[in-house]
Amino acid sequence: MKLLWDRRKLLAGAGGLGLLRTLLPRHAYASYLAEEYGEIYRQIGIRPFINAAGTYTVLTGSIVSPRVRQAMEEASRCFVPLVELQAAVGTRIATMLGIEAAMVTSGAACSIMLATAACVTGKDKEKITRIPDVAGMKSEVIIPKTQRNGFDHAARNVGVRLVEVETIGQVKSAISNNTAMLYWTNIMGWKTKIERREFLEVGKAAGIPVFNDAAAELPPAENLSGIVKEGFDLVAFSGGKGLRGPQSAGLLLGRKNLIEAAQLNGNPNDDAIGRVSKVGKEELMGMLAAVELYLGRDHEADQRTWRSFMESIAKSLRGIESVKTRIYVPGPGEGPGGGHPVPYLKVQWDQAALKLTYQDCSRKLKEGEPSIQVNTGSEGLDLASYNLTPGEERIVGWRLRELLSDSRKA
Ligand SMILES: *Cc1c(COP(=O)(O)O)cnc(C)c1O
Repeated sequence: MKLLWDRRKLLAGAGGLGLLRTLLPRHAYASYLAEEYGEIYRQIGIRPFINAAGTYTVLTGSIVSPRVRQAMEEASRCFVPLVELQAAVGTRIATMLGIEAAMVTSGAACSIMLATAACVTGKDKEKITRIPDVAGMKSEVIIPKTQRNGFDHAARNVGVRLVEVETIGQVKSAISNNTAMLYWTNIMGWKTKIERREFLEVGKAAGIPVFNDAAAELPPAENLSGIVKEGFDLVAFSGGKGLRGPQSAGLLLGRKNLIEAAQLNGNPNDDAIGRVSKVGKEELMGMLAAVELYLGRDHEADQRTWRSFMESIAKSLRGIESVKTRIYVPGPGEGPGGGHPVPYLKVQWDQAALKLTYQDCSRKLKEGEPSIQVNTGSEGLDLASYNLTPGEERIVGWRLRELLSDSRKA
């Protein structure tokens, strides 16, 4: 690792700060990070940023662990039979999780689509090639109305009709010979009058597969195998969120015959709905490494580290007029992630007194060097801990301190 002491860059990067200040280690460190990472992006005019916002696809998800990066690099060096590799990776992941079956998909959205396709077509070749024309097939998916969300488009790709329900009674009466699947979105469960448990039981009693979109719900780590073990027939996770696997990968976990049907609806089969969402050998091996690593992690230590990042930033802001900070772990439906149980830091101040609105502060963080992205709301800034690389919390702290102190002088 080289440390940069190039003053021209420091000055340019820090927005013309005095020479003395550029010599402070924090500026040197910020500059070092800005220089060391992301050069490949800068060459084409894209500026990397420090992610204190969270795992959002538009912000490129998460950063893969070095072991995952290495697995993908090694995997990229030679040819292998793809179908055999898919099966081997699926079997290994299922064994590690202690569940019947697993497959790597191109993301949780793809898992939603393949789960739906599997429930509609089973392993019937004619049906697999014909969807999204679902004439003569079970073509209804029952979904709680309060859980409708943009990602259900992935289910609708299959040609099914979503039947909205609001009570468990309505679930029971909506079930017919035409029902292919029951569709639950875990993070939205709190919005729904129906209990997850009873939704599952009604599906079981009717012999209809129950799917759970748990894309962003790691942590808690127990979810990874726990939701399948609870009885859900198919469960989706993102690979590029809490798992820190490849961004264009996900998991579909569950019952063997359904996973096999999902696989038949997927790549590399040409005449299949999932041919558009290819998963390469690099993603397959990357996901395997990510799951292995995740199972071996000390999740409590992760939580402590993330909390320490938030404490460090809060400490940097101590003593600034009107500034209040609060570390919190969102409950169901709370926080920018809608209930992601990891430490966040809320930062609030008197916008009039400091002559700085939350929006302007957020914009300045983003436009500065290094660029920093946070969540901005009417009640302050919400900083997410879990996408920060150690050291970055210092930069976020000093940059925020700088903005909040400078604005007062203006
Ligand atoms: C992120 C997310 C998805 C999509 O996940 P990808 O892995 O990006 O395809 C689907 N459902 C929910 C609830 C999500 O949060």
